[in-house]
Amino acid sequence: MFEGPVQRLIDELSRLPGIGSKSAQRLAFHLLMVEEADAMRLSSAIRDMREQVTRCERCFNVAAGELCAICRDVRRDDALVCVVERPQDIVVVERTQEFRGRYHVLGGALSPINGIGPGQLRFEELRQRLDSEGIQELIVATNPTVEGDATAMYIAREFKKDGLRVTRLASGLPVGGDLDYADELTLGRALIGRSEI
Ligand SMILES: [Zn+2]
Repeated sequence: MFEGPVQRLIDELSRLPGIGSKSAQRLAFHLLMVEEADAMRLSSAIRDMREQVTRCERCFNVAAGELCAICRDVRRDDALVCVVERPQDIVVVERTQEFRGRYHVLGGALSPINGIGPGQLRFEELRQRLDSEGIQELIVATNPTVEGDATAMYIAREFKKDGLRVTRLASGLPVGGDLDYADELTLGRALIGRSEI
């Protein structure tokens, strides 16, 4: 519809989540009209992120080195580990300011229909951490979905042992949604009211 390079950017932008073809068009023309340096900053931010961001070797959060900022923080409580599906869920829990432990990112939730079994998630890495880090409680903060529930049940079944509590966020979270649909207050309360599973 538009000149080749313009259409190419519109096509790329409209593949992003939440961006329809109208928005993609508006963004592309915006980037065409602003100062070249402003547009190039966006392009190098994307390139830098993809080239520099790694996974934390301990918890699999996003990191810019071997360990993420949370794992590098010595004031955090090693005994408490919050298990989440995705790195962006960490931000949601952090915003509540109710949690001072560490995290473990599974990389998704169990979903047999989509071919995601225990082997596709970072359970083995979690098991190794349990053996070596003196963890006393796993707080399962998977999404309140069918897959998130199944994952929480799997963790309770496979990981519970003497000296390890496995808890889950209290109900009250919007069912069927992602963790980040919950506001800080609701999630903070769910964290405080967590119960054994
Ligand atoms: Zn980490």
